[in-house]
Amino acid sequence: MNEKALVWHRRDLRIDDNPALSEAIAHVGEQGVVLGIFVFDPDILDDGVTEGSKVDFMLGCLRELQANYRRLGSDLLFMHGQPITSICELATSVSASHLFFNQDVEPFAIERDREATLALQKLGIKVQSFIDIGLIAPDAIATQAGEPYKVYTPFWRNWQSKPKPKPFDAPKKLTGLASYENLPTISLPSLRELGFINDINLPKSGEAAALELLISFCDREGILGYKTERDLPAHTGTSALSPHLRFGTVGIRRVWQYAIAAEQRSRSEEESTGITTWQQELAWREFYQHVLFYFPKLATGAYRPQMQNFPWEDDQENFVAWCEGRTGYPIVDAAMRQLNQTGWMHNRCRMIVASFLTKDLMINWQWGEKYFMQKLLDGDLTANNGGWQWSASSGMDPKPLRIFNPASQARKYDPEGEYILRWLPELRGLTIAELLSGNIPPHQCKKRDYPLPIVDHHMQQQKFKKLYQDCKNP
Ligand SMILES: Cc1cc2nc3c(=O)[nH]c(=O)nc-3n(C[C@H](O)[C@H](O)[C@H](O)COP(=O)(O)OP(=O)(O)OC[C@H]3O[C@@H](n4cnc5c(N)ncnc54)[C@H](O)[C@@H]3O)c2cc1C
Repeated sequence: MNEKALVWHRRDLRIDDNPALSEAIAHVGEQGVVLGIFVFDPDILDDGVTEGSKVDFMLGCLRELQANYRRLGSDLLFMHGQPITSICELATSVSASHLFFNQDVEPFAIERDREATLALQKLGIKVQSFIDIGLIAPDAIATQAGEPYKVYTPFWRNWQSKPKPKPFDAPKKLTGLASYENLPTISLPSLRELGFINDINLPKSGEAAALELLISFCDREGILGYKTERDLPAHTGTSALSPHLRFGTVGIRRVWQYAIAAEQRSRSEEESTGITTWQQELAWREFYQHVLFYFPKLATGAYRPQMQNFPWEDDQENFVAWCEGRTGYPIVDAAMRQLNQTGWMHNRCRMIVASFLTKDLMINWQWGEKYFMQKLLDGDLTANNGGWQWSASSGMDPKPLRIFNPASQARKYDPEGEYILRWLPELRGLTIAELLSGNIPPHQCKKRDYPLPIVDHHMQQQKFKKLYQDCKNP
């Protein structure tokens, strides 16, 4: 009898370069059935952090994935409920012999997958899982002493020297079930049926859109000029692939293949530096996966013991002003409005607003981490936690005390005020000097209904340094 395999999609919403899908097809052979399954987990949907924009983006990816499954001859099925129970129920009702999935690195997901594997094995179903989220599995890289890395630069050196896997080809044909009647599945729910609304304009979702972005970034100027352009938030100097890497609408091996092809075409030192710099960002992504895998406690608090009891001020009003982009510091406010209005924020600005929340407003970085998770389409535990702990000086970084001056950051990275004015149109008409001074004249603020700075950067910086020293040497 022909075998039936389920492919459990979670953060890999694509058919191209998908190890679990390719291995399932290879296992059951041409006549065997391969079905995709995605489970809407109420514990994730109702966690109080997930917002409609993210769910809407995900639904777009799922719609396209289902269309791809159908085009190839099979189907992507949907269930709503506790994932382990749902998967077991479906596997039993279609008499599946195998379940294939791509591994995750988040502590919650690792535990869920371990339990799912046990439950399926009890039913006599064979389970196989694959490395997919990064090019190098988090436990396949270690220091010379065999320890996990805690510092990025030596991690990068080792990571860079390791051979990288090749992408898996997209399948050309699948075999589905003869009938889909009487299955415990549902049709793809709408955003409203899932209890959400979305009021932001989303970027294109799905794997075709991801490939388009990858090609346009790697085949044209983007990657070559990345070293200088990536820090200028007014420019389109980065790939904007992060939501796609988050939902797995593009495979990391495919991404790497395009980066290597660009490297082979590069003709100057500057161009090849651009490509290496981009590869280093992909390695940052895997560094944060690596550290969270080995130090899962990072997910719940500061890594550095002296920061675990830092006396954060946690002023609620200041937090709301930060969230709404009404702090009186234009670069901070522009960035927060970009986040609120698009679900994405430029990396330079993420560092600026994170430094401002923690060092200027002295608000616990975990409040910012949570707000980012709510709003970012690319919101990802590993990268978000890594970015916030780095900014708060609470992480593993060897040079911990970094305080960004918002005005000098704006002068350096947005020298014409172009980014600021894009998101804060009420400040149009000010001189560049006023805009970037960090101190807009009060009468100009009043006229424009723009707030005066809610704190004094220089005073707060001194205060933070003192508290930090006190914590370091109690
Ligand atoms: C406080 C803070 C929070 C962050 N939260 C997230 C998050 O939730 N999800 C997320 O994907 N990134 C996060 N980042 C990292 C970074 O800002 C985004 O990955 C980047 O801005 C995405 O834009 P891009 O796709 O154009 O990146 P590109 O510059 O084109 O980089 C390519 C890819 O590399 C990865 N990458 C780039 N920079 C970093 C980095 N510093 N750390 C880890 N991965 C990186 C991303 O997957 C990105 O898509 C955060 C950074 C900070 C400082």
